[in-house]
Amino acid sequence: MSENNTENRESVNFIQKIINEDLANGTYGKRVHTRFPPEPNGYLHVGHAKSICLNYSLAKKNNGIFNLRFDDTNPTKEDDSFVESIIKDVKWLCPEWDERIFFASDYFGKMYDYAVELINKGLAYVDDLSADEIRDYRGTLTEPGKESPFRNRTVEENLELFAKMKNGEYENGEKVLRAKIDMASPNINMRDPVIYRILHETHHNTGDEWCIYPMYDYAHPVEDAIEGITHSICTLEFEDHRPFYEWVLNNLDDFRAAPTKQIEFAKLFLTKTMMGKRYLKKMVEEGYVDGWDDPRMPTVAALRRRGYTSEAISNFCESIGVSKAQSVVDIAMLEHAVRDDLSLKSPRTMAVLEPIKLIITNYPEDKVEYVEAENNADNPGMGSRMVPFCRELYIEREDFMENPPKKYYRLFPGNEVRLRNAYFVKCEDFIKDEDGNIIEVHCTYDPETKSGSGFTGRKVKGTIHWVSARHCLDAQVNLYDYMMEDQDYDKTNFLEKLNPNSKVVLNNCKVETSMKDCKIGDRFQFMRHGYFIIDTDTTENNLIFNRIVQLKSSYNKR
Ligand code: ATP
Ligand code: MG
Repeated sequence: MSENNTENRESVNFIQKIINEDLANGTYGKRVHTRFPPEPNGYLHVGHAKSICLNYSLAKKNNGIFNLRFDDTNPTKEDDSFVESIIKDVKWLCPEWDERIFFASDYFGKMYDYAVELINKGLAYVDDLSADEIRDYRGTLTEPGKESPFRNRTVEENLELFAKMKNGEYENGEKVLRAKIDMASPNINMRDPVIYRILHETHHNTGDEWCIYPMYDYAHPVEDAIEGITHSICTLEFEDHRPFYEWVLNNLDDFRAAPTKQIEFAKLFLTKTMMGKRYLKKMVEEGYVDGWDDPRMPTVAALRRRGYTSEAISNFCESIGVSKAQSVVDIAMLEHAVRDDLSLKSPRTMAVLEPIKLIITNYPEDKVEYVEAENNADNPGMGSRMVPFCRELYIEREDFMENPPKKYYRLFPGNEVRLRNAYFVKCEDFIKDEDGNIIEVHCTYDPETKSGSGFTGRKVKGTIHWVSARHCLDAQVNLYDYMMEDQDYDKTNFLEKLNPNSKVVLNNCKVETSMKDCKIGDRFQFMRHGYFIIDTDTTENNLIFNRIVQLKSSYNKR
């Protein structure tokens, strides 16, 4: 999309406005280049998806480029399995992406050289204070900090000590490299922040090549600038770090002409959902869920397994916009996006989740009839299928009541309903087991009332779904509900506030025989129940469905 098109769009977000100005002023030539910079220390969640979709779509709309860059500067928490999962998620969310994948650790050499440049300019020094002392010297929001006694070392001495740090001559914590800025700055981030520390650790990418590692606040602007990023979009907690981000780039000769611009927006939070990698990790490690891709989790991997489409997620992210004000988005908006996306795409079928048998006593025992059923009433292009109908069917347990309340239009003794796509049936009798549970409903059918026959003799108020007992397939259905019971949780108590009913497994479900050729990942609407996907754990003998979302948010009986 060209610049002009974007300007004409009604809702141009504030980041696009900044980009428009930069394009008009030629700040970066005509370039727009964004990135998503995860730390590979966990799976991505829907908040990260927001950031990915934002950066990817800004690049796309402005004929720009989008990088995935692993911010792997901290060797203690990182892991290759997280790298794999993040690449998979970003590819999935960005279908037309040209897979520009980078690692901050590939720039360790350059980052070192830039640190040497700062030392040469008198803008960085090696400090011998311990971590505790550095903290004590830092001052507070109301009091200025104190200068380190090592602050005024000569350039030569600093160069030599920094080289020795790199060569492994010191223990962890013995020395650090600090930027030399202003210990009295009102912004604590500018009080000579540490930019390199000693860490004798094996790194997932560089192995034992390095024993000094750059700190995030120094590494990040350098990574952005090395890649030619024009707009470095991050979340609000980095606002106070922006002056240091700018300080770094303005003091390096390679970058000062057109330094990358840091722009902050508010993180996405969702109702009824705990976000934050460290909390999700705790749930995984302590067994509160079955892994990072447990469909109850808000991770991208879990949403994918749950059956969400990447289109739904990017539409959702687009619809909520970007802002500087922190807020919590109603999870109903995410659910709306997936319903909206699936409604016309998914075939609609009949599935009985909690079955009881319905016997049509006046229907011949051996007869099988095929009735026509539309695949999607709102999308006639999806055609129709023939569904077997015979004397014994399964219907939903809740579609029969012995003593119905007022306005119950489904089956009860003496009442007539329509079996979807088939006939009217009238309830004549029912059978209970010794515990009083209803196990069979007996009906008669009226052959005149076949669906599509034009019958107008009388009307019925209820239509129920069914499957043929002789033909149907057995299935397991997992019904998922919100992770958190309500809204009164925080990071201290969320484990106690988890929704105990977030997963209900139904083992005795019956689905149409037409599903026998379906495969893992296929999605359907089960009429009256919601949208479902065939789960990855499905085997030849065990067909498993996950409920993606209910049909309406008010349908919340379970
Ligand atoms: P978490 O708090 O879940 O651990 P993080 O910010 O530490 O997330 P990173 O891997 O460091 O995770 O983040 C990668 C990018 O994703 C950053 O630019 C960060 O600002 C962004 N991001 C993280 N959480 C959210 C969120 N909830 N909404 C939008 N963007 C987010
Ligand atoms: Mg982080």
